[in-house]
Amino acid sequence: MKNFIKIALLVSIIGPFFINNKLYAQSFYRMKLGDFEVVALLDGAVPQNLDQLLKGTKPGAISKMMAKHSQTAIMNCSVNAYLINTGDKLVLIDAGTGDAYGPSLGHLTEGLRKAGYQPGQINAVLLTHTHMDHIGGLMTGDKLTFPNAQIYLSKAEGDYYLNPTNREKAPEAMKRFFDGAAQKLNPIIKAGKLTTFEFGKELFPGITPIASFGHSAGHTFYAVKSKGEKMLFWGDIILSDIIQFANPTVTSVYDYNELNGTSTREKALKEAAKEHYWIAVAHIDFPGIGHLVKADTGYRFVAVN
Ligand SMILES: [Zn+2]
Repeated sequence: MKNFIKIALLVSIIGPFFINNKLYAQSFYRMKLGDFEVVALLDGAVPQNLDQLLKGTKPGAISKMMAKHSQTAIMNCSVNAYLINTGDKLVLIDAGTGDAYGPSLGHLTEGLRKAGYQPGQINAVLLTHTHMDHIGGLMTGDKLTFPNAQIYLSKAEGDYYLNPTNREKAPEAMKRFFDGAAQKLNPIIKAGKLTTFEFGKELFPGITPIASFGHSAGHTFYAVKSKGEKMLFWGDIILSDIIQFANPTVTSVYDYNELNGTSTREKALKEAAKEHYWIAVAHIDFPGIGHLVKADTGYRFVAVN
């Protein structure tokens, strides 16, 4: 009995390290999309309190919904980015957190290398928006992390977040998004590496940016198509799969315009379930790739096997 207690104690102490190691051991996930290769890259994960993060429900409702899935409101939130190898170009969608946060994040380039690619090989980085968990990895200290890449951002997002006058007018809680954009994107602009674009026109063969405003002022989806297969990269329109697929009207404290965010989400969910293409989501459990199906209440996410 004594030995059993000793073993149980040992497992409870070292178990979490194995769980973490397992998480970080799978730092990339590779799949084919027509002639393209898609590589999901895990930047890391960080606990988020959904009771504080999400809005638009009655007090206590989030915890209750999570409990139905045997979970608490404290979610271990993945930060996912994606590499598209078109055969001709290496295109990264979002750049991870870089050195902006703690040690559980900032591992994107490790996963990239493990998947067989070097940061210097990346031709382009397409940004879904300018929040720090998507642009932090563009710079490593004062050096460009992807020295040979052009960085692509929607004109709407750049015009809004890179304009100091808009920062002055913005609510106090939102000012940090302007500061983050200036910190990470001004060196990119100075190096002549930022390209802004209008929506709806292909940036590379098979890769098209789509307007999806709400979470940020110029939030962008990227539609990637090859040989009749399609994946839509959703950025941050969903922060909690359990809550927001079932209840698309739930918004987040990070949203720039909650009303637009909700209508963007409702439209996107409906279309993804109807057309049954792949979706890739930045903050749901790694690799964040799957399909959406209609459920009794809202929708259900079916993760890639
Ligand atoms: Zn994000």
